Amino acid sequence: MKFYSTNNKNKLATFREAVLKGIADDGGLFMPSELPKLSESFFQSISGLSFKEISFRVAKNLLKDDLPDEALTKIIDSAITFDAPVVKLDSQIFVLELFRGPTFAFKDFGARFMANAMSYLNKDENKEIIILVATSGDTGSAVANGFLNADGINVVLLYPSGRVSKIQEQQLTTLDHNITALEVDGTFDDCQRLVKQAFADSSLKKEATLSSANSINITRLIPQSFYYFNAYARTENKKLPFYISVPSGNFGNLTGGLFAYKMGLPVSKFIAAVNANDVFPKYLETSVFEAKPSIRTLSNAMDVGNPSNFARILDLYNHNYLSLKDDIYSRSFSDIDTIGAIKEVFSKYKYMMDPHGAVGYLALKKFIADSNQKDYNGIFLETAHPSKFADIVEKVLNKKIEMPAGLQACLVKKKKSIKISSEYQELKEYILSI
Ligand SMILES: *Cc1c(COP(=O)(O)O)cnc(C)c1O
Repeated sequence: MKFYSTNNKNKLATFREAVLKGIADDGGLFMPSELPKLSESFFQSISGLSFKEISFRVAKNLLKDDLPDEALTKIIDSAITFDAPVVKLDSQIFVLELFRGPTFAFKDFGARFMANAMSYLNKDENKEIIILVATSGDTGSAVANGFLNADGINVVLLYPSGRVSKIQEQQLTTLDHNITALEVDGTFDDCQRLVKQAFADSSLKKEATLSSANSINITRLIPQSFYYFNAYARTENKKLPFYISVPSGNFGNLTGGLFAYKMGLPVSKFIAAVNANDVFPKYLETSVFEAKPSIRTLSNAMDVGNPSNFARILDLYNHNYLSLKDDIYSRSFSDIDTIGAIKEVFSKYKYMMDPHGAVGYLALKKFIADSNQKDYNGIFLETAHPSKFADIVEKVLNKKIEMPAGLQACLVKKKKSIKISSEYQELKEYILSI
């Protein structure tokens, strides 16, 4: 598979280049040059395949020329170590649970696949790589977990002191081994600036091999197509229309779903569920895309005013607004709606949603009502475990949430971080000391 840049279709990169560079030299995003359809026999036998088997078949469909089967199997085995089960709420509404990974959010799929692919592609280099990640919370811990104990790779996380939740901070600072957390006396923007400065510092780059593992890396999107196939595989009546609602911020999760669709997954409609950050539904309504400053909401991982994967989605539709609009429906919901949905689903089904999943549920219900659907499989993605947002969910439901053992375990571990100021020199000295 070759990968083109969204800024120039004629400039192709190999898988290795796309993974290790993260972003194309012209600043564009890497995209697979084709998305081959999976065979009919694959879809006929899909119900009998495990999630891991499905993941392997889908990955091979894209990467068979880039990775030997053996390597791909190893990457999948190390990355996809947890399930993406479908939970039935009633005969028509289902939840695809994507929070069973080590950091309890769906970013584990992408981060772990990327980490394992990078380690494999780097295995013959004798230089150690230092991966720098600025994080405002969830991404950093998913990436760091994916790289935990990887040979030849050190991960340096930068997070803003006092500006991440207690759970997030514990997840970032208790990994140890090849992971270091730098606690920056500053904001998330300071952390991002420091990382950018390090990448631009040619004297530093002579001494250390730096790499980035940011969210636009194409290896994070490929595994985000696997679980859509799994949802379909676990669906009993495959003849009914299949609607799938995706709580969206940067639209990477939805892009993974669209990859699955282009590879032949029979989805009747994608539903892009957003909070008050509504540039995407506004685009579908008016055909004009207008980025806006982000607005803070309860579903904070979706507080994005300029979704980074929009360029990829446009490319998947050859910039044809009408055909895009045919496949994707989108609506925005307020925090008040979100709270109402958490209450409704708990009282109706005794199912606890986190605020992101709640937005997904709302958009699915809205689509069904708007289009007067009778028989269907309606699936919404639950992107985080409710206990990651316990402060909100416990207040809304007036009920204590039981924490999964993995989260409890990291809460009692001893925090280990190195405090630095937001002066670049301190970061540089630390990197040189590794
Ligand atoms: C990142 C994130 C999202 C948004 O996913 P995108 O791929 O950015 O659209 C939704 N929910 C949770 C819990 C997240 O961490």
